[in-house]
Amino acid sequence: ATAPAFLSIWDMHAYYGESYIVQGINFNVHEGEILALLGRNGAGKTTTLRAIARMDDPQVSHGEIWLDHQPLHTMSSYQASQAGLGLVPEDRSIIPGLTVEENLKLAQIAPPIGWSIDRVYDLFPRLRERRTQEGVTLSGGEQQMLAIARALCRDIKVLLLDEPYEGLAPVIVDEIEKTLSIIKEQGITTILVEQNAVRALKLADRAVILDTGGIVFDGLASEVLENEQLRAEYLAI
Ligand code: ATP
Repeated sequence: ATAPAFLSIWDMHAYYGESYIVQGINFNVHEGEILALLGRNGAGKTTTLRAIARMDDPQVSHGEIWLDHQPLHTMSSYQASQAGLGLVPEDRSIIPGLTVEENLKLAQIAPPIGWSIDRVYDLFPRLRERRTQEGVTLSGGEQQMLAIARALCRDIKVLLLDEPYEGLAPVIVDEIEKTLSIIKEQGITTILVEQNAVRALKLADRAVILDTGGIVFDGLASEVLENEQLRAEYLAI
């Protein structure tokens, strides 16, 4: 028998009310890799991330999710975060009225605590410079950095990133990409949902492509870059 994958999604179905969105998907994520989760608008990428993170919405009707031998499918979103999942939502969810540093400290109130605040400042020097600034007044790129930094302040094994490059200038995307590579070197596994498929594929080790709630590709990111038909049909690139 083969060893179970580090993160394994098995026959997962997810709904918003009566809307059947994720229609029985299976995929594995290997420890320490960056997996790009791609597909057109409405394909079900955000829904898949939220389902893995055990958010209240969508409702997962069926299937199993295992992280490092822990059954996430039996857990609440809070328990899943304690088990090592760090979801960075598309809206970044910076807490108003708190400084950069207070946003980070808040992430460290419950054990298990992850990176120290100094260590995340070493990764994001811009945040150190702006530690006393209110978090919601940061630029879009800086807010994205803060959202990632906050996830690292908890002891995460898997980072779930929902469209981190959205609305950011290419030079800021370069900066965030570099930090994602450093985070990978530290052994953290990442699932990257991105509309900017070319950039995501160049960074990622592997890719999963969703289309209308099902998986149409699961393989090496480089294979997608080389496959014009796949790119045109499912990614419009
Ligand atoms: P995008 O790139 O546009 O964000 P996506 O692949 O992330 O797309 P999802 O956000 O997962 O797609 O949405 C999948 C489907 O679920 C869409 O048809 C969307 O309208 C629907 N949906 C998303 N959120 C809800 C909700 N809260 N209630 C009802 N339907 C929803």
